[in-house]
Amino acid sequence: MTARKLDGLAVAQEIRTEVRPDVEAFRARSGRPPGLALVLVGNDPASELYVGSKLKSAGETGLRADIERLPATASIDQLLHLIDNLNQSDVHDGILVQSPLPPEMGRDAERLVFEAVAAEKDVDGFHPTNVGRLVQGRADLVSCTPSGIIELLSRSNIPIAGAHAVVIGRSDIVGKPMALLLLHRNATVTICHSRTVDLPRIARQADILIAAIGRAAFVTPDFVKPGATVVDVGTTRVTDPELVDRLLPVGHRRREAFARRGALVFGDVHPSVEEVAGALSPVPGGVGPLTIAMLLKNTVRAAHARLG
Ligand code: NAP
Repeated sequence: MTARKLDGLAVAQEIRTEVRPDVEAFRARSGRPPGLALVLVGNDPASELYVGSKLKSAGETGLRADIERLPATASIDQLLHLIDNLNQSDVHDGILVQSPLPPEMGRDAERLVFEAVAAEKDVDGFHPTNVGRLVQGRADLVSCTPSGIIELLSRSNIPIAGAHAVVIGRSDIVGKPMALLLLHRNATVTICHSRTVDLPRIARQADILIAAIGRAAFVTPDFVKPGATVVDVGTTRVTDPELVDRLLPVGHRRREAFARRGALVFGDVHPSVEEVAGALSPVPGGVGPLTIAMLLKNTVRAAHARLG
């Protein structure tokens, strides 16, 4: 079997096209485009890349987007002060603080940021108020990656209701909201994590398997029931030539890209899962573009809600 590709790029494009009339409607009502502030602390190359893609995509969809930078040496108080200013801003309807934050900001930095962004501008869906509403199944602003995955499954005609969904990973930003969204769509949900015993056996029960771990090629064919739908959330930058050699068969087109760039991004799912799964989201070109599309959708939704 060779898995059907779940085309995140195409679904993301569809969502961005659907958002455009809402952008125009907002502009007509308010005289300005919906505005997104992207906060970037430090200059981590991967974060620079992600923020750059969000900026470009927002511009192409007719939104205003501004990057607000702080140096890697900034304190958590400086970051909270910046967020406070953005909470007061009339032209910004959404605020996104790019993770990860520099470790020097302290262990609690992420949680403090989740709480500092005004709930009505929390286009990442991380504020406790928005998370609480998600638990109750009445959230307006839901974490972008999991809500993008729901769009990907629905628009690819993968049945969710009644399916057994196994989510590997229990982070606040992916695993937990993912499990809740699947539950609200009537899947039977199992959540796995680093302390789960006999993970492959549990994963093999899944009709829908979501891998959100952050370990390159961790999910091998023995984790997958033949014909299951597998969604690969992970993004790990691999620079080790031996690992690339092991993961990609000789002659694979991505080997050439590795030889040129010296690095490749791999998902959590081993390339050979393609032979077992019924449908599979690729990395790159799967979940990543959907995360951005849902961010834009959330920003436009927040803008309309703020206007009343
Ligand atoms: P995270 O906060 O590090 O959480 C990872 C989760 O995986 C944790 O719950 C952890 O379990 C679990 N885990 C780690 N090792 C495991 C193992 N050996 N067996 C079973 N479970 C294990 O990561 P995250 O923020 O959720 O992100 C996960 C991945 O998705 C990363 O690669 C990230 O870059 C990627 N991501 C991609 C997008 C996108 O748009 N494409 C968006 C967000 C994240 P414990 O809780 O027990 O530690």
